[in-house]
Amino acid sequence: MKALIEREGHSAVAESVRVVLARLRHEIGQSQLDEKSLDLALGGLSTAVERQLRESLSYSLRPLINATGVILHTNLGRAPLAACALDRVGDTASAYSNLEFDLATGERGKRDVHVDRLFGKLLSNDPVNDPVEAHSRAAISTIVVNNNAAAVLLALNSLAEGGEVIVSRGELVEIGGSFRIPDVMSKSNATLREVGTTNRTRIADYDSAINDRTRLLLRVHRSNFEITGFTEQPGLDELVVLARRRNLPLMEDLGSGALIDLRSVGINGEPGVLDSLRAGVDVVTYSGDKLLGGPQAGLISGRADLVARLRSNSLFRALRVDKLTYAALEATLLAYVKRDHNAVPVLRMLRLSKDEITSRVKKIVSEVKSAQLKHLKLELLDGESVVGGGAAPSAVLPTRLIALCHTHLSADELNARLRASTPPVVARLEEGRVLIDLRTVFPEQDAVLIETLHSLG
Ligand SMILES: *Cc1c(COP(=O)(O)O)cnc(C)c1O
Repeated sequence: MKALIEREGHSAVAESVRVVLARLRHEIGQSQLDEKSLDLALGGLSTAVERQLRESLSYSLRPLINATGVILHTNLGRAPLAACALDRVGDTASAYSNLEFDLATGERGKRDVHVDRLFGKLLSNDPVNDPVEAHSRAAISTIVVNNNAAAVLLALNSLAEGGEVIVSRGELVEIGGSFRIPDVMSKSNATLREVGTTNRTRIADYDSAINDRTRLLLRVHRSNFEITGFTEQPGLDELVVLARRRNLPLMEDLGSGALIDLRSVGINGEPGVLDSLRAGVDVVTYSGDKLLGGPQAGLISGRADLVARLRSNSLFRALRVDKLTYAALEATLLAYVKRDHNAVPVLRMLRLSKDEITSRVKKIVSEVKSAQLKHLKLELLDGESVVGGGAAPSAVLPTRLIALCHTHLSADELNARLRASTPPVVARLEEGRVLIDLRTVFPEQDAVLIETLHSLG
């Protein structure tokens, strides 16, 4: 006990002793122990205290190996941060900073300036000489809130409180975790005006729904589903024309909001932030920890006069983010400005080719095979990784999978054993098989993964 107290402190050890004794008393009171097991329990008290202590002092939130191949897995914390972002968080968090302090004047500053500058660069970095483009470029500003759900809430409340917002019935999305467009709409105190049908909405539907209570046209990205078959949806350009003609702002909830052209990684039909702003959308909202690959945040980019209305809403104060988010976001954006896309793990994983994955797969398989395990069998398979996180619902990236099978364990049991390892490994369970997709495993984790496989025998 003395050694434990020295290591972990008196109060934590005392607490564990109390828990262990209370449990033992309870068991005695319930007559669950005969004399022999009581002796055993008393003899093992110090071990029990140590175990209890370890359990109570262990972290609940722990890093793990994502072997699912789902790059933006909401349950697994979405985007891992870039190393440069981590460094920046460490430096900024452990010291005072100019979060809301203007170093030039010595006066109070605004926290949003720290990233607005970089978003400004990134969202206008194309040297297009189109005067319309030049006009909209000059006036784009960006603010940051807690997440995209907060961004949508703030935007709807600021731009449409007490009025109507027109949305297509094919875009009344539920993202999961209770983000549903109709619910967010009512919380924002705006009235949802549905138009069209589930599968077909025409521009005329929007046009004829506009009345003097209309405040906003809203387009919502179908992040996690597709509508196929007999379908119709007006193009963004048609919505822009209508919004301008009727003098209404047009907002788009992009969900993921890529800052790179996804066509470069073989994903088509996913609009980026720049595409939407260039098309003339007035305000776009998107997440910081989806395709952007940064910290959890909700970004609102658009016409400066509209964004200023959001900023002056008292909800903005309630939804604002802390210095750590700004630090991580600024560092991530700087990587984009420097076009150092490989610094951002999400972008690196997106760009990983099947060949690169295959060569790592082969290495792992040969190492595990050389250990001549009795019960674990490995097999190689062609497969597909998905982006996840409400981005590109139908886009798949070709990959090479390792299928695991075990002579004594079912796929479920095998999966549970992987989850119980240190660090936990979360694999894919498909058609009764455990599959490992290295796309989302960091190459530095390959060695630990091999050890884990060895331990499965
Ligand atoms: C993911 C998503 C959201 C929610 O974003 P969070 O950052 O998780 O709050 C909202 N709308 C769409 C379309 C999304 O894809």
